[in-house]
Amino acid sequence: MIIRPEGASVSKRLESVMAHRREVPEDLNLKRIVERQFDKAAATLDVPSGLLDQIKACNAIYFVQFPVRFGDSYEIFYGWRAEHSHHRKPLKGGIRFSPLVDQDEIIALAALMTYKCAIVNVPYGGAKGGVSFDPRNYTRHQIEKITRRYTAELIKKNFIGPGVDVPAPDIGTSEREMAWIADTYDAFNPGGIDNLGCVTGKPVTQGGVRGRKEATGRGVTFGILRAMDSPGDFDGLSLGRGVEGKTVAIQGFGNVGYHAAKFMQEAGAQIVAIGEWDGGVYSKKGLDVEVLNRHRLERKTILGFPGAREMKDPREVLEVECDILIPAALENQITRENAPRIQAKLVAEAANGPTTVEAEQILLERGIHLIPDVYLNAGGVVVSYFEWGKNLSHMRYGLLQKRLEAAKTASLLAAAEELAGRHLSESLRKKLSVPPDEEALVNSGLEEKMTGAYEEIREIYLTRKQVKDMRTAAYVVAIEKVARAYMELGIFP
Ligand code: NAD
Repeated sequence: MIIRPEGASVSKRLESVMAHRREVPEDLNLKRIVERQFDKAAATLDVPSGLLDQIKACNAIYFVQFPVRFGDSYEIFYGWRAEHSHHRKPLKGGIRFSPLVDQDEIIALAALMTYKCAIVNVPYGGAKGGVSFDPRNYTRHQIEKITRRYTAELIKKNFIGPGVDVPAPDIGTSEREMAWIADTYDAFNPGGIDNLGCVTGKPVTQGGVRGRKEATGRGVTFGILRAMDSPGDFDGLSLGRGVEGKTVAIQGFGNVGYHAAKFMQEAGAQIVAIGEWDGGVYSKKGLDVEVLNRHRLERKTILGFPGAREMKDPREVLEVECDILIPAALENQITRENAPRIQAKLVAEAANGPTTVEAEQILLERGIHLIPDVYLNAGGVVVSYFEWGKNLSHMRYGLLQKRLEAAKTASLLAAAEELAGRHLSESLRKKLSVPPDEEALVNSGLEEKMTGAYEEIREIYLTRKQVKDMRTAAYVVAIEKVARAYMELGIFP
């Protein structure tokens, strides 16, 4: 379904929004990039071509123009929700508030969600939404009005709901917007017992799950750790195992970038550079992520961080000397223009679509390894799945087994002490006695999903002769699973 305003009502601004990507060269069009990545993997598969076309295409897209009143005047906003694949329900995907949002971008990001969910085995079809505006130019109250109105538009067309389509945060949105979305949905659906499951990434006090905010960055770290510990995957990179002492540069210090930096540092890596939209900071000795975050919160910029060298050009961070480069901001950051100058040995894609097809080819030819977005940033949707499950079960994780586990552990410790004939130290007893709480369970589930998915991709990478890189291996895993789901539905007998 394509719904667009009729000719006469198409304003100049709408024309420019709709045309935005048409002016972008083909190699920077994210929709074309995702399609080309899909085609490369599909060419190695024995899947009927009609079915491949169905898996690749976007099943439904809703475009909406809506007015929001600020004081005495009205401003027009343009929004989209793309439902890429209905092979599983509900559909799942973030909502982006950014002036760069357009239809092609939303379709591409929805497609990535379909493949991502298949890769990490969460039972959703892929979706994505967005509104074209820059939240930095609006007050909190204005953003709330825009969010609530956009949600109302999605409700009117049945593009949101716990069993239909479940959004989450993405660029320019956070827990705050997700709480407004949940509240608006609830107001339109009084008495709906599962209403909280209409959106994920909510604050814990509003039906969220502990660990969701950190999930994408934590998942990125789990993925990198798993990859670094797989013998043979990084032959020739002279990187060695683990991340201890490895130097890391990160582009973007938002939700994903900050948490990836925090967890990589906790795992022993040295964060030497961080870049933001207004420039970057570099320190050979390593940046303290928490101190930098406090500096950013106080000054509204990472620039001016004591002891660090400043980088005026926001793209410079991509080219610094380091072991691992983590793009965690926007798409199309590593292009054919700067790929020859990337000095990292491994590019770990935390953002969606940071590397163009041509740039990836250059990196691979230069012996630079890449862990693809379609796997590496799936931690967010994994924990969103846990949050949705919590909302539908109306119960916190760990509630039923907490006391049982504590009693079991106490009995085991008492038996061990009796056998050993001596008492454990108080600190060790305390450590062993803590029963897993919601956050520990969520993080354990996340690690299981990220590790399991890496194994599946690796298996394809190591065993299929035609598959030469990790991204193609990840797409093969995804396409085969979605194809199987369609065949099981009997649509293509
Ligand atoms: P965010 O809005 O919290 O953070 C984005 C950050 O990038 C901001 O700090 C912004 O100032 C910075 N930025 C903007 N332009 C930049 C530039 N030119 N150079 C450097 N930095 C720039 O968004 P996020 O949720 O962290 O998302 C980042 C990326 O991760 C996106 O590609 C998103 O699609 C992807 N992603 C996010 C999630 C999630 O759970 N939030 C899940 C999967 C993938």
